Amino acid sequence: AKNRGSNAWCFFHEYMTQAARERLALEARLRRALELGHMRLFYQPQVDLHTGRLTGAEALLRWHDPEEGLISPARFIPVAESSGVIGPLGLWVLGEACRQGQAWREAGLPELTIAVNVSLHQFLLTDIAGETAQVLETSGFPAHLLELEITESALAEKPEEALAVLSRLRDLGLRLAIDDFGTGYSSLAHLKRFPLDLLKIDRGFIYDIPNSGDDMAISSSVIALGHAMGLKVLAEGVETQEQLSFLQDKGCDFFQGYFCSRPLPAEDFARLLEKAGA
Ligand code: C2E
Ligand code: CA
Ligand code: CA
Ligand code: CA
Repeated sequence: AKNRGSNAWCFFHEYMTQAARERLALEARLRRALELGHMRLFYQPQVDLHTGRLTGAEALLRWHDPEEGLISPARFIPVAESSGVIGPLGLWVLGEACRQGQAWREAGLPELTIAVNVSLHQFLLTDIAGETAQVLETSGFPAHLLELEITESALAEKPEEALAVLSRLRDLGLRLAIDDFGTGYSSLAHLKRFPLDLLKIDRGFIYDIPNSGDDMAISSSVIALGHAMGLKVLAEGVETQEQLSFLQDKGCDFFQGYFCSRPLPAEDFARLLEKAGA
């Protein structure tokens, strides 16, 4: 038993070292990919549930590796977060989203909001407000059309700092959304003090509608809560007509999901936008 114990430890130790090595390699590749211009933004439509109109797009990051193909953000955002690469990467995303949004406006396409994800470290450890102000100025994209999505956990972690950052962002005139609402542990008391515009219901609560009574109860409660606090509510991950009808019936304001469209490369999104405006 003693031997097995020490072997197990050795195995664990080796495994950790291997994992650490892989992380370092990924981090280095990530930095290089950013420099080489291998990052892309895809855009997923956001639809107004009251009017059926396309009103916005969420920018979602893709790593286009020449050898591996498209790499999902789920694989590299955590590494970017914990290594500090998220600073330059997040700034690139912000700049690219505003540049693209302004290019669509200048091409005469219908006006729409662009939502950009901001991660926890980017939110709390970089000068996100200063950088956003700079990006808006450089791109010419109007502040009121930019929405920043901040996860509930980022706000819950350090509510006082979060409040100060949110207030500075709000002063720039942009919109603020809470992402993945319902999955973190933010207290409602804090939530009430944050200057927010939108709650995004996590797709984990939408997925099992209409089979899960619990998920239906949670979703309709979040819609009612958001509205009671003067916020708009968006449901993400809507895949079926039944989910759409349920949300419409509960007065949800916007949805995103495969039922309308997967995230699209910029050219494909522009084509969709052109059709929507016609
Ligand atoms: P998220 O912000 O919650 O984004 C929604 C995710 O759900 C996206 O995955 C989207 O493609 C996916 N999705 C949308 N509609 C549906 C649907 O109907 N069904 C299903 N099953 N999935 C749907 P994606 O693009 O792989 O992004 C994963 C996560 O990576 C995002 O979750 C976000 O947390 C993070 N991420 C993506 N881009 C960025 C970025 O530019 N910066 C930061 N910090 N994080 C990002
Ligand atoms: Ca998001
Ligand atoms: Ca989510
Ligand atoms: Ca998320």
